[in-house]
Amino acid sequence: MTAKIINGKAIAVELRQEIAREVEQLVSAGKPRPGLATVLIGENPASQTYVRAKRKACAQVGIESFSYELPATVSQEKVEELIRRLNDDPKIHGILVQLPLPAGIDGERVLRAVSIEKDVDGFHPINIGRLAQKGREPLFVPCTPAGCIELLKRAGAKLDGANAVVIGRSNIVGMPVALLLVRENATTTICHSHTRDLPGTCRKADVLIAAIGRPEMIRGDWIKPGAYVIDVGINRIEDSTRKRGYRLVGDVAFDEAVDVAGAITPVPGGVGPMTIAGLLRNTLRSAKRSQV
Ligand code: NDP
Repeated sequence: MTAKIINGKAIAVELRQEIAREVEQLVSAGKPRPGLATVLIGENPASQTYVRAKRKACAQVGIESFSYELPATVSQEKVEELIRRLNDDPKIHGILVQLPLPAGIDGERVLRAVSIEKDVDGFHPINIGRLAQKGREPLFVPCTPAGCIELLKRAGAKLDGANAVVIGRSNIVGMPVALLLVRENATTTICHSHTRDLPGTCRKADVLIAAIGRPEMIRGDWIKPGAYVIDVGINRIEDSTRKRGYRLVGDVAFDEAVDVAGAITPVPGGVGPMTIAGLLRNTLRSAKRSQV
């Protein structure tokens, strides 16, 4: 069997077009343009690249972005003061604090300072609590997990009653994606570094989500024939044939898995592009909510 490749890049382009149309409708109706503040602390090159990509994506769909860059030596108090100012600014509907934060900054305190109404990443503990509770709705669904579910649905996966296995239990990917699968009525197993017989557990999965951060750890013979496989991992491995000296691979051994799975996301070009689309969608949602 050769799996269907789930093209996250193409799906994210469709989503961005939908968002751009909605932004235009909002502005034409005389409402304020949605605005996203990006807060970058320090000079982590990967973080700088991510923030640039997010600002560019905002511009493409008509969302205004406001950039705040602070040195790694900035004090905790100054960061929290900035967040409070952004919380009060009516032009700003979403606040994105780029992670990871430099040593010396208490990330938990910074994230807690972001108003839940503007937490477009969806990481606020109360927001995650709402996601976990029956009969309650989160204000924002975290972007990468939302992207995983969107890809599964658009690829035709039946989640209701499916056996879903998530490998990873981080606050930003593994745990929220597992909570979303439960909301979709999938019977969901969460695996982590203490799980016994990971290959055996994976083999029972109709839907397998890998969010580990270990290059190509999930082998082809861990996958149930016909399963839907979503590979969230982004790992650099050395590759002297590439100009930049490395290439990106996922947590799944793609070349093996593609012969067994029913559908699979590639890395790059799978979940990655969906994350930014989710951020844009959450910012638009926040702008609409603020005008009700
Ligand atoms: P974390 O390091 O926070 O979490 C990794 C999880 O994997 C942990 O729960 C850990 O278990 C588990 N794990 C580690 N080793 C093993 C193992 N040998 N067996 C089973 N489980 C294991 O990572 P993130 O969730 O932040 O990110 C995961 C991956 O997703 C990374 O490659 C990251 O780059 C990528 N990513 C991609 C995004 C995108 O847009 N595509 C966005 C965010 C992340 P334990 O809890 O026991 O330690």
